[in-house]
Amino acid sequence: MRVVLLGPPGAGKGTQAAAMRERYRTPHVSTGDMLRTAIAAGTPLGRTARALVDAGQLVPDDMMAGLVRDRLQESDAAGGFILDGFPRTVEQAEILGRLLDSMGRELDHVLLLGLEDAEVVRRLSGRRSCASCGAPYHVIAAPSRVEGRCDRCAPPGGTLVQRPDDREDVVAERLRVYHERTAPLADHYRRRGLLREVDASGSVEDVERRILVTLAGPAGAAKAAPRRAGGDRA
Ligand code: ADP
Ligand code: AMP
Repeated sequence: MRVVLLGPPGAGKGTQAAAMRERYRTPHVSTGDMLRTAIAAGTPLGRTARALVDAGQLVPDDMMAGLVRDRLQESDAAGGFILDGFPRTVEQAEILGRLLDSMGRELDHVLLLGLEDAEVVRRLSGRRSCASCGAPYHVIAAPSRVEGRCDRCAPPGGTLVQRPDDREDVVAERLRVYHERTAPLADHYRRRGLLREVDASGSVEDVERRILVTLAGPAGAAKAAPRRAGGDRA
C-alpha cells in the first residue's frame, strides 16, 4: 500500500498515520519529523531548514526531493509507505511521480483529510508531542494519562512538548501557505483518479473508521486488485 496523506496542518495526518502503520504494517514517512530530526542533530540540512520551519515556510523543493528519495529507497519502504507531509507543492508531486516511475512503483491512494481552519487552530493550539518518541497528544482531545509525560515510552515517560511552529502567529502563516501552495494538489491527484476525500472532523476513532471505509471502497478495491503490466503511474 502506497498512500499519500494530504490535508492542512493539524488535520490529524500524523495521528492517523500512526494507526495505519500498525494496521497495514507499513512505515510512516513524515517529512516534518525527518526535518525536526535533522534540525535537532544540527546537520547541514537541519541548519538550513530551521529558520524556515520555525517561521511556517516551506523548505525548498530540491532539498525535500533528496530527503524523500533517500527515504523511499530504504528497504523497509519497498513494500509500501504512508507519506505524510510530502508532497506539499505541485512541483513536489511531480518529483514524487518521477521518483516512483524510476522505481517502477505507483501510488495507490491520496487521502485528503479535510478540516476547516477554526478546528485546525483548536487542534494545533493543544497539540503536544513526546520529545523522545514523537507520539502525538492533545491537551483536551487526546491527553496523556500522567500530565506532561508520554504513555508510550518506558516510565517515567518522555516529556511532552509544544512545537515552536504551533504558536498562534506561525499557525496562521502555515495555513496561508497550505491554501496557496498545497491545496492545489487535490486537483492534481483528482485528475489522476487517486484522490479520496475524508472528513477529518469528529473523534480520532471516527476519522479512523472513515479512512478504513474509504480504503476498502470500490475505488480502493479496484486499485488493490492485481495490476496489469504497463498500468498508469502516479
Ligand atoms: P497533522 O499531522 O495533520 O499536523 P496531528 O496528527 O499532529 O496533525 O494532529 C494535530 C493535533 O490534533 C494533535 O494534538 C492530535 O492529538 C489532535 N488530533 C488528531 N486527530 C484528532 C481528532 N480527530 N479530534 C481531535 N483532536 C485530534
Ligand atoms: P509538518 O510536521 O508536516 O507539519 O511539517 C512541519 C514543517 O516542516 C512545515 O511547516 C515546513 O516548514 C516543513 N516541511 C515538512 N514537509 C515539507 C515539505 N514536503 N516541503 C517543504 N517543507 C516541508
